[in-house]
Amino acid sequence: MTTVNITDVILRDAHQSLIATRMRTEDMLPACERLDRIGYWSLEVWGGATFDACLRYLKEDPWQRLEDLRVALPNTRLQMLLRGQNLLGYRHYSDDVVEAFVERAAATGIDVFRVFDALNDTRNLQTAIAAVRKSGKHAQGTICYTTSPVHDTGKFIAMARELEDMGCDSIAIKDMAGLMTPMVTGTLVSEITRATRLPVHLHCHATAGTAEMCLLKAIESGCRHIDTAISAFSGSTSHPATESMVAALRNTDYDTGLDLDALQEIGLYFRDVRKKYHQFDSDYLGPDTRVQVYQVPGGMISNLYSQLREQGALDRIEDVFAEIPAVRKDLGYPPLVTPTSQIIGAQAVLNVLTGKRYSTITNEVKLYLQGRYGKAPAAVDPQVQQQAIGKENVIDVRPADLLDSEMGRLREQIGELADNEADVLTYAMFPEIGKEFLQQRKQNALVPETLEPVGKKKTDHARPTEFNVTLHGESYHIKVTGTGHSTLDNRPFYMTVDGVPEEVLVETLDQISPVKKDKNATAGGSRRPRATRPGHVTASMPGTIIDVLVAVGDLVEAGTPVIISEAMKMETEIQAPVAGRVTAIHVARGDSVNPDETLVEINDD
Ligand code: MN
Repeated sequence: MTTVNITDVILRDAHQSLIATRMRTEDMLPACERLDRIGYWSLEVWGGATFDACLRYLKEDPWQRLEDLRVALPNTRLQMLLRGQNLLGYRHYSDDVVEAFVERAAATGIDVFRVFDALNDTRNLQTAIAAVRKSGKHAQGTICYTTSPVHDTGKFIAMARELEDMGCDSIAIKDMAGLMTPMVTGTLVSEITRATRLPVHLHCHATAGTAEMCLLKAIESGCRHIDTAISAFSGSTSHPATESMVAALRNTDYDTGLDLDALQEIGLYFRDVRKKYHQFDSDYLGPDTRVQVYQVPGGMISNLYSQLREQGALDRIEDVFAEIPAVRKDLGYPPLVTPTSQIIGAQAVLNVLTGKRYSTITNEVKLYLQGRYGKAPAAVDPQVQQQAIGKENVIDVRPADLLDSEMGRLREQIGELADNEADVLTYAMFPEIGKEFLQQRKQNALVPETLEPVGKKKTDHARPTEFNVTLHGESYHIKVTGTGHSTLDNRPFYMTVDGVPEEVLVETLDQISPVKKDKNATAGGSRRPRATRPGHVTASMPGTIIDVLVAVGDLVEAGTPVIISEAMKMETEIQAPVAGRVTAIHVARGDSVNPDETLVEINDD
C-alpha cells in the first residue's frame, strides 16, 4: 500500500501561527506519550520563533525544552526549521557558529533539519547542510514558494536539482503564506519528483483556505510527505487538520495508517490548551484570501496585527498590507519569510507611519541592498538602493565569506553567564534577550509573562478603554490606547490622560493608579520633554535605544544619524531632522522610548 507520511507541526508552527508562539513546554509534555505512539514521520518542535518566545516571554531555556521533548518522544523523529546561514537569528552568522549550532542541536535531539534561505540563495544553505550531513542527521533542503514576475516552475526545479547535488536527503516545498493553488501544486510536485530522486515534503499554510486541496493534489502527483496540525491548532493561518487528512485518505491507496481515534484524543487535549492562550488568538480566524494579493505569511499577519495594536495604529493595517508588495518589488521580489518578511514588514510599517516612503530606512534594508543577505531574485530598485546606501559597495560573494570566526568572541563576551556551549549559542542567536535571559537565570529572576484567566475576554475588549478618574478633586479623562509586552510582572499600558500620551506599568488594568497630570511628562515615567519643535528628534514607533551616536555640543547636518533604535526586531537609524548643535540628550542605551518624546534636542537657531 502506498502510504502518505505525516509531519505534525503542533509543537512549532501551529502555535506560532495562531497564538504568537506562546505554548509552554508544560502544555506539550502531557501530550507527548500519546503523540509518540501515533507513528508520525516526524514532529516539528523547534525553530527561530519558538526559541525567541521561550527566552523573551516564557522564560524557558529552549535547549531544555528540546531535551525534555527528546526524552518524552523517544520513538518519533524530531524536526526543526533552520534559517540557513541565519540559523535562528536575523543576521548572517560565520560558518563556525553555524557548525557549532547544528552540532549542538543534533546532539540535543534534532533528527531532521529543514533548512531554508529567505532569498532561495543556495549559497546560504551550503554550510548548514554540510553540517547536518556531518552530524549524520536528515538534511532537508527547502524551496521557499512565492509568486512574482520572476518566479516560475523552471526556477524551482533548478533549485531542487541544486539541493539534490548538495547532498540533501529530501526536499521541502515551503508555502509559508498559503499562496499555492491546487493545480500549481500538482504541477510543481510532479515536475520536482521527475527532476530529482528525492522525496518531496509539502508545507502549506491554510491561510487562504486552499491548503487541503493543495495537499491532495500533491499526493496525487507523487508527494508522500505532508505537514498537518492537530485539529485544535489547525486552519486559519496554521495548517490543514491532521485528523481531517487522515480521515480523507483512509482506505485509499494513500492511507496514512494513523489511528484516527488516538488523534482525536490528542485534538481534545489541545483544545483545552488553546483556551489558556486565548489572549493571543488573532481576530482573523478563518480563510483570508488577501494573502493571494499581499503574500503575507501567517506568522507575519499575527505579528503585524499585535505590533500595530501596541502602537495604537491598528487602523493602518490595510495600508501596511498594501505597502508590503510595493516594498517587496523595490527589493527584487524576495519570498516573504523570516527574515525578509520582518525586513519588508518593518519597512512597510515605517513607510506608512512616517507618511513618506523611505524617509526612514531600517539598517536591515540597507544591509539587504548591499547584498549582505544574498542575491535578490530580481534586480532591486536603483533609486531606493541609492537612497539607502549611496555609493557604498554592493557585494556579490556569499555573505558569510566576508565574516570572521565568531565563536571565540561570543564565548568571551558572554563569559560566566554561560554554563555551557548551548548558552553561548543562545547568546549568539539573541544577543539582547538571550543575555537578559541568562542574567535573570543567574539571579533566579525568571518570571514568565502572565496569562489572562480562561473565560475572560481580551483586555481591550472586556474592559472599558475610556473612563474618567477623579483625583484630589480634579477629573481626568483616561483612554487606553494599547498594551505592550510584560517584562517580569509588569505590563506597560499606553494611554492618554486628557489627550496627553502616558505609559503606566501595571500587572493588570485593575491596578492602574491615577496618573499624575504633568503636561511635560511622557512615557515610562521618564521626564523626557514632549516633542514640539523641528529640532526635537523623535522615534516613529515605540522601541528600544540601541545606541546614541552624538554628544551634547556636536554639530550635525540634517540627515546625520543620531540614534539607533530597535522596533519590531529591526534596527532603525534615526536621523537629525535639522542641522544645528546638539543641546540635550534625553536617552541612553537600553531605554524604552515612545513616539512624541524628545530623544535629542538640536538647536537650529
Ligand atoms: Mn510555516
